[in-house]
Amino acid sequence: MQPVTSRTESFLTPGPVSRLGFVDLSERRVSAIDVTDDLSRRFLGGRGLGAALLLEHGRGVGPLEAESVFCLLTGPLTASGFPLSNRLCFVFRSPATGTLAWANTGGHAAVALRNMGFDGIVLTGRADLPCMLVVADGSISIEDASILWGAGAVTATELLLDEYRGARVLAIGPAGETCSPLATIINDKGRASGVRHGVGAVWGSKQLKAIVIKDRQSASRRPADAAAYKPVLARVHRKIRESPVLSPKHGTMAVHGTAIAVEAMGLDQAMPVRNYTTTVLPGYLGLGGHRKSDEVLVERITCSFCPVQCRRETGSTGKYAFQSEGPDYAQLVSFGSNCSVVDVRAVSYLNFLSYELGLDPIEMGNTLAMLADATERGVVDRGLAWGDVDRMIDLVRDTAAGTGLGAHLWHGAAGAAARLGAPELAMCVKGISLQNCDPRAEPAWGLLNATETYGGAAHIWCYGDLVHAMRHVGVRPLVTPDSSPRQNAEAVKYKQDLVAVLDSISICAFSSYAYDELDYCDALELIAGIEMTPDELLARGNDVIQLERRFNMLHGLRPDEDGLPERFLREPIPKGLHAGRRCDLEPMLDEYYALRQWGRDARLADHRAVARIR
Ligand code: SF4
Repeated sequence: MQPVTSRTESFLTPGPVSRLGFVDLSERRVSAIDVTDDLSRRFLGGRGLGAALLLEHGRGVGPLEAESVFCLLTGPLTASGFPLSNRLCFVFRSPATGTLAWANTGGHAAVALRNMGFDGIVLTGRADLPCMLVVADGSISIEDASILWGAGAVTATELLLDEYRGARVLAIGPAGETCSPLATIINDKGRASGVRHGVGAVWGSKQLKAIVIKDRQSASRRPADAAAYKPVLARVHRKIRESPVLSPKHGTMAVHGTAIAVEAMGLDQAMPVRNYTTTVLPGYLGLGGHRKSDEVLVERITCSFCPVQCRRETGSTGKYAFQSEGPDYAQLVSFGSNCSVVDVRAVSYLNFLSYELGLDPIEMGNTLAMLADATERGVVDRGLAWGDVDRMIDLVRDTAAGTGLGAHLWHGAAGAAARLGAPELAMCVKGISLQNCDPRAEPAWGLLNATETYGGAAHIWCYGDLVHAMRHVGVRPLVTPDSSPRQNAEAVKYKQDLVAVLDSISICAFSSYAYDELDYCDALELIAGIEMTPDELLARGNDVIQLERRFNMLHGLRPDEDGLPERFLREPIPKGLHAGRRCDLEPMLDEYYALRQWGRDARLADHRAVARIR
């Protein structure tokens, strides 16, 4: 163990991202990397900086090879106290999709990491024994974690908290240890809703069980000009208070969490139902935000420096006894509507079980939906009947263990469907399941998923304004189901660019339901000394997407991978408000590629366009 010994205050600057811990697990070596001012100003932090680092240091390395590079990154507003600036971004090459991927988690770990002296950690190598990292006051140490190997992610976290009281803990479960592409990382026992793409498998391949970060929640990064900052802070707080979505008192997502989207999506008949064979689900309110508040809510909780409090501590007793966080909308429809379950307690339990086993609950739910579909079609004997919760619980356990039918499901929806001989039943793009919404009912959602860097996994409701149904819960949609291909392409590109730069700043993208681009620019200038106009802000997002695209091209992204499952293109929605609709993807793709200046025929980035950012 070789700690980095510098004290926090001695090297972290108040401005842009400045210093990362570098950990080589093979060599058991810990050191520090100073980020150049040019790099951090250009790519800001989080997702953008991670893409730049991976392109430089992770090129040509398989996701689960020892030399693979894994980044945990904060951003230039982290620990400033600017509302909602609390995300920790994981950037890595995905074992689920083979693409560059990022996963974004809230809570308190990012602020704790910055306050312990690091803007991020870059990991490589493979330990010879199970290990964990302990981050404390300017040092990172590699500790033995053999005793935790095999433990559930929630259980391991509880054991670690006995020793490291008040710390923040990121941990994997058994699924990560066996490197399943469904494996996730659990943040503080209950946050994994945006953490997909097999991120936990990368840790498992490195024999890394957990990262423990001693916690100090304070605004250690302060604006140079406090007088100029005060009105900006007052302005964003006013916008949050007045937001129909985020207001702590009356905002739909604040009061009922993201689960309130069930009410909107059910009403507009746009949610995934029975592996996307229909969009109509009688009794959908049994999964909704109101029902969740009535049946499993323990208390509203929040992330660092966020007045919104959209997170939920939940629990239940009896048959589905659990105590956890969530489920969010994405889990409610993955385990719920898409598997024909309308019992919020059952879905909450399945979500908790996934957390304990270290499984991505969104991919797990959609994998079970695929299996139920395959069973109904006679592809599988004794698979899964729609709505059979007891069988689902057994199959989740079998998946983590890789036993029985779980040996197939362990590979995720795409891998399992291929092994069952029915690849067409996987509702996946680039090897990972779509979530949240049926692209036939909401065409912009189809374009978004077809073109996302890391496959069809637009992971959270920060893209809710690309879904017309979300108007029912106060979101102002950028599109309607009848928007033209050009309008859909413009909306998708705009929102992708915005989310990419927000993920780089490492601010919760839900902020975009209340803030405008100028709010982010003012915060960046006053807190981090990074000046840009709103147009330049969006251009930074475009740069990130171009960089990600370049990485994927170098790793063999094929033209036909920007697409959607045939079901959405060929099979019309059979009944309800959207009966007869298919997703007409081709014209939207043509418009989108034109906007991105990517080659239309090859459906891959035009090298000249991508080269401009190098
Ligand atoms: S809006 Fe919700 S998810 Fe975002 S920072 Fe606040 S509590 Fe966390």
